[in-house]
Amino acid sequence: MSFETFYQVVAGSALVFGLLIGSFLNVCIVRMPEDRSVVWPGSACPACGTAIRPYDNVPVLAWLWLRGRCRSCRTPISPLYPIVELLTGLVAWLVFRRIVPGPESLDTAHLVAFLVFFLFSALLIAQTFIDVRHYIIPDELSVYAVPFGVAANAVLAWLGYPGAIGWQGAVVGALAGGGILGAIMGLYWLVRREEGMGFGDVKLLAMMGSFLGAAPAVPFILFVASVAGAIVGVPIALVRGHGLRAALPFGPFLALGGFVWLLHGPELLQRWFPALALVLGR
Ligand SMILES: [Zn+2]
Repeated sequence: MSFETFYQVVAGSALVFGLLIGSFLNVCIVRMPEDRSVVWPGSACPACGTAIRPYDNVPVLAWLWLRGRCRSCRTPISPLYPIVELLTGLVAWLVFRRIVPGPESLDTAHLVAFLVFFLFSALLIAQTFIDVRHYIIPDELSVYAVPFGVAANAVLAWLGYPGAIGWQGAVVGALAGGGILGAIMGLYWLVRREEGMGFGDVKLLAMMGSFLGAAPAVPFILFVASVAGAIVGVPIALVRGHGLRAALPFGPFLALGGFVWLLHGPELLQRWFPALALVLGR
């Protein structure tokens, strides 16, 4: 097997790994808002309670061969399950291609970095689906992940991963992420006497800062999230005739900003704000 073929096989394995993690994210998305354990008991049909057999738990494929219905009671299973699995698989593949760009970067530092940033992306996926459905962001997916972001960046620096921000960069990133959004929230409250966004968003951006560092990631994420939020939210707010705040949760747009930064951030910064990129040395 050539080195290039080997690389493609590893990238394909990352995709399969992503599909499996997607299956676990479905459990998190359903159970976390209900404060149920994500490890016990195993998955069961919500309609009839029959435990799901291992072969009916195969990501995406099981939903297809069951034709989207429970094997026992034939109650339809939401297509969101295979969609989350497929999305997570695709995201794992994209993150792998970004973090490990070619066969020459197949080493421990890059593979560990892939695991770290794929975990980061998985938190964003689970958080997005929960926020859209319930307008909450569980602490397990945001502020509780900050120590992991700090530890992961310490390990990446120790392994000599190029561009590693180290634990100090991660701590500053978490403080910057939480601080800047907390300050915006506070200002908004002083002016309007109402909450501009949830405290969940503040904790979410703190988590993102702990993985990606303070600058330029945090301002970049806020920029992308605000622009995307306005593009999607303003028409909805106009149609429904109430405020932008009531129309949409902000978490999914922050997640989008974080993901865009992870996949293309420095290049986009260079293209959109060349002068700023020059100052920041990117
Ligand atoms: Zn059933």
